[in-house]
Amino acid sequence: MPVSGLPPYDDGNIFARILRGEIPARKVFEDKHALAFHDIAPQAPVHVLVIPKGRYVSVADFSTQAGAEEVAGFWRAVGQVAKQLGLEGQGFRVLTNMGADGGQEVPHFHVHIFGGKRLGAMLV
Ligand code: 5GP
Repeated sequence: MPVSGLPPYDDGNIFARILRGEIPARKVFEDKHALAFHDIAPQAPVHVLVIPKGRYVSVADFSTQAGAEEVAGFWRAVGQVAKQLGLEGQGFRVLTNMGADGGQEVPHFHVHIFGGKRLGAMLV
């Protein structure tokens, strides 16, 4: 069960379907713990989503319920993706939305990686 007050994990969510290969995505990275793919509606020149392979609704669930290896593997993937995309030199932004007030649309934990330009103070 989610710890966050959000509904239980829904296996029909769009990122679960991408993980199962049921719908296409422009993948940039995949390993045992994580999958990264381009956002369908990019808000910056580079806008990639990184998701864990486990069934976590939000960062609240992931940070409390995932195992240490899974958490480490996920964050290593985030760093690896940024490096692979050539973002390390100029910098980038990592963001996660959580729940209604956070503006989370897809109920599978994910982080956004934004880069490729000098970003403003907030991306809203
Ligand atoms: P959230 O608001 O949940 O943090 O962000 C969800 C993100 O998923 C949005 O930026 C949205 O554009 C992206 N997204 C929604 N559906 C799809 C899809 O089918 N494919 C891809 N690649 N991205 C999606």
